[in-house]
Amino acid sequence: MSPTGTSSNFHTEEDILIEDILILNGLTTDMLKMHEGIWVNINGRGKIRGTCSRCVSQFEYIVEIKGEQEYVSVLDINQYESTPTVDVFLIDERHELDVEELVRQSAIVGNDVKVLCSESCKGICAECGTSLNSNNCECVERSTDPRWDALIKLTKGKI
Ligand SMILES: [Zn+2]
Ligand SMILES: [Zn+2]
Repeated sequence: MSPTGTSSNFHTEEDILIEDILILNGLTTDMLKMHEGIWVNINGRGKIRGTCSRCVSQFEYIVEIKGEQEYVSVLDINQYESTPTVDVFLIDERHELDVEELVRQSAIVGNDVKVLCSESCKGICAECGTSLNSNNCECVERSTDPRWDALIKLTKGKI
């Protein structure tokens, strides 16, 4: 058992797929041994697949993965009188520390959830559902903002 304060660091080189997140060029993991557990710090970049809320197409985008979390061994936790109230992640009986959950949380929490495939996404036609990013449909020409309808009628009435 190494003394408190010892840190270690490792870096994986290859891409890793954790659920929907593809970690690009590996992940750097720093571990610092604390009084009662291990403080883990991860750093990397990942690729996430999202669905555009405007045109509902699937697209991929890059996220920063930065997160830190305290891990406590399940073996140690069983020795405590009461369960720790702080949010700790557990190291299992085989002394394996699972960073997947931390990666997932970091990827989501640390980044604005991106909902548009691009700022200039034109969305889909409300009439026929055609994606207006790649196509123009027949409806576009004649469709007006419904809020204008009342005004147009009014104007016509006056004239
Ligand atoms: Zn879009
Ligand atoms: Zn249309």
